[in-house]
Amino acid sequence: NVTVMNRDTNKVSTTFKDVAGLDEAKTEVIEFVYYLKNPERYKEIGAKIPKGALLYGPPGTGKTLLAKATAGESGVPFLTMSGSDFMEMFVGVGPSRVRDLFAQARKLAPCIIFIDEIDAIGRARGRGGLIGGNDERENTLNQLLVEMDGFSPNSGVVVFGGTNRADILDNALLRPGRFDRQILIDAPDIRGRHDIFLVHLRPLKVSDPPGIEKVAQRLAALTPGFVGADIANVCNEGALVAARESVNKIELRHFESAIDRVIGGLEKRNMVMS
Ligand code: ATP
Repeated sequence: NVTVMNRDTNKVSTTFKDVAGLDEAKTEVIEFVYYLKNPERYKEIGAKIPKGALLYGPPGTGKTLLAKATAGESGVPFLTMSGSDFMEMFVGVGPSRVRDLFAQARKLAPCIIFIDEIDAIGRARGRGGLIGGNDERENTLNQLLVEMDGFSPNSGVVVFGGTNRADILDNALLRPGRFDRQILIDAPDIRGRHDIFLVHLRPLKVSDPPGIEKVAQRLAALTPGFVGADIANVCNEGALVAARESVNKIELRHFESAIDRVIGGLEKRNMVMS
């Protein structure tokens, strides 16, 4: 079902420079970039590339961003679908969406498939129900396993899965020949937050002095516990506050009040959850 598929079949413009920090994770995915740029060379020499990798870690840390940037670096199409998109009320829709997704990918290869929230279909069998019922989910998971087993390592299709809950995944998904590699995408430390702030401050009109380097340092120190998605949010909120005041440069205080707003939002979210 192509309508639910978010396809970036043209060139993806996101690259590693849009992804701050995550150096180890980038080193791990670089092998896929070499491969996707030149699958023929791997085939000729007889080297087998892993079929996929699981990107796991807290929400908003850049899993989707890194998967997309890997496609951008490689110059290949990016096909993405969320695990929950496979779960429908009608029996048989999940497995057929999996089939469609992989059929598309084979046509577009070399390319990257990214299945976000893979735990929605890939949680260990025999665990709690979801919409569509357990059988439907199991059938969808089985179809995914069939598809992953069915393509050869040199088909030019690389599959990334994203999850916040690697601990509940069915072991079958993690076997060799499926998601061979598991890559942790963790919340950033102060250095990482600084680097992420720089990425998101660069396109903005930030007052100088103090200049974006100083602003990034200060904001990183003020935001323990923030992930990349929160930081992107702070930068945009700061710009909105400044625009409303009709000043033409964004000052540190605008970002500071944006942090208060984001923290307020996070607290509300936690209250709802607990
Ligand atoms: P989820 O688990 O909720 O799907 P995710 O880990 O896939 O989250 P993304 O969707 O990749 O998170 O991140 C959301 C946004 O946050 C990105 O589009 C980007 O703007 C920003 N962001 C997150 N991590 C980073 C990072 N390391 N560098 C730069 N920006 C980041």
